[in-house]
Amino acid sequence: MVVSKVGIEVVDSHAHFFTYATIKRWLDSGGSLERIQKRVGNLTDMGTLTVPDETWDAGQMWIDELDKYGISAIGMMISPEVWDEFNETRKRFPGRFLGYANINPAEENAIDMVKRAAKDGFQGIKLYPSSWDFHVYDERVYPIYEEALKHKLLAIHHFGITIGATANLRYGNPLDIQKPAQDFPDLNFMIAHFGAGFFREVLMLMYQTDNVVMDTSGSNSWMKYQPFDLTIPKIFEKALRAGSAERIVFGTDSSFFPRGFRFNILEEQYNAVKSICPQFCYSEEDVDLIFRKNILRLTGFKPK
Ligand SMILES: [Zn+2]
Repeated sequence: MVVSKVGIEVVDSHAHFFTYATIKRWLDSGGSLERIQKRVGNLTDMGTLTVPDETWDAGQMWIDELDKYGISAIGMMISPEVWDEFNETRKRFPGRFLGYANINPAEENAIDMVKRAAKDGFQGIKLYPSSWDFHVYDERVYPIYEEALKHKLLAIHHFGITIGATANLRYGNPLDIQKPAQDFPDLNFMIAHFGAGFFREVLMLMYQTDNVVMDTSGSNSWMKYQPFDLTIPKIFEKALRAGSAERIVFGTDSSFFPRGFRFNILEEQYNAVKSICPQFCYSEEDVDLIFRKNILRLTGFKPK
């Protein structure tokens, strides 16, 4: 048993495996480094972002971070260009990385990618409707859900605001997931960042569905774009009242170095949950559900 620096066992359900290949592909497709660094500087707490070079061993760097803070395992969003390096990393460090394949329904090989994810032992898929221009209830997305269900993959969705400069928020409303959630009652859906601004909608989904959970990942800076005041403890309080501890899944949205594992987010969210106990989170068991057990139940993953 590994105990984290906040004193409990922790599995981080949501992070990103970025490597040299990520940046290379992104620059090759016409991205501007200056523009993204500006957006990152203005809109996130990342400060600077170090561009990975070819010699980086991202797997080892993440393991060093996990060990430093006592994190049992971490879930990584995987793009095609980092897939091989990630597979190799998982073999070297079994039981430490959950994998979720980024799936764009517009790509011709989308179904094959879901199959490949299952074959490679991934735990989920990740869809990004506002960045990839589709409604998640579109007919063309249904075969993806069917395939995910066959392999018991968790279907993660990022709705709401996003650092991507070209996102279309018309596709970013989490209510879109209600129909697929009804049509696939045995498939688990996870909505990232409490809906990233569509918090009300996500809370309503807690009432309307049984197979949708919310992840807590990131700084939750979407709070700034609400017409009322929210705090991290308040978000947890409302989420617990609407959804119970079973439907709140801890994550950090860690991604780049030198920032590495976002321990400040774990600390902040753990303190927030503790501060509203026992009125809203009831027991130590509830805390364990949020910070570890839920993501293991949703994916069947066994940490080392
Ligand atoms: Zn993320």
